[in-house]
Amino acid sequence: MDGDIAPIKEICDLADKYGAMTYLDEVHAVGMYGPRGGGIAEREGLMDRITILEGTLGKAFGVMGGFITGSSAMCDFIRSYGSGFIFSTALPPALAAGAIASIRHLKNSPFERARHQDRVRRLRAALDAKGIPHMPNPSHIVPVMVGDAAKCKWISDILLDDFGIYVQPINYPTVPRKTERLRFTPTPLHTDADIDHLVGALHSLWSRCALARAVA
Ligand SMILES: *Cc1c(COP(=O)(O)O)cnc(C)c1O
Repeated sequence: MDGDIAPIKEICDLADKYGAMTYLDEVHAVGMYGPRGGGIAEREGLMDRITILEGTLGKAFGVMGGFITGSSAMCDFIRSYGSGFIFSTALPPALAAGAIASIRHLKNSPFERARHQDRVRRLRAALDAKGIPHMPNPSHIVPVMVGDAAKCKWISDILLDDFGIYVQPINYPTVPRKTERLRFTPTPLHTDADIDHLVGALHSLWSRCALARAVA
């Protein structure tokens, strides 16, 4: 919810020291980080140190379903003992084909990853220009802090009804009280005009809700 990134190397070092296994959720990173879109562990050169890495096909890859990776023995173990897996239906062929096409494309194309980060910078700069407070972090997740559950829900409703912008309010218990927020995740396809439209809407709603501005 804060868009922070785990100290993966330090955790792997600790795991090595104590003989522990590691499990890394890269759902928000596969397709988006690393030279081939393998995720943060790929970017940091740490993939071979993770016991199990989890990804989704439903975010950057744009379809549905998920996966884990690991040694063949580990994957075989989970395939054989994971009841949630054994008793679930398999991905339909159309989704599998879509996932393969998407993964093949993103493995070879850094364009979307670069453009994604560019859009994030653009959104943050536009928010800064209007004094809309957002939480700094090293990722593409831009939490805009509201700090009030009712206002957070109200702003999200008005953004949809009056401005055609869909963003979910993140309230307690997902985040602690007083840190209620709107969590923006720009995509590579958002235009400058989209971002200006969003920030313009937030600018007027900030005044209507008498919310505090960030000081530059
Ligand atoms: C979205 C998300 C999941 C769940 O992924 P699905 O493919 O929607 O089931 C797991 N972990 C994190 C960190 C997520 O953001």
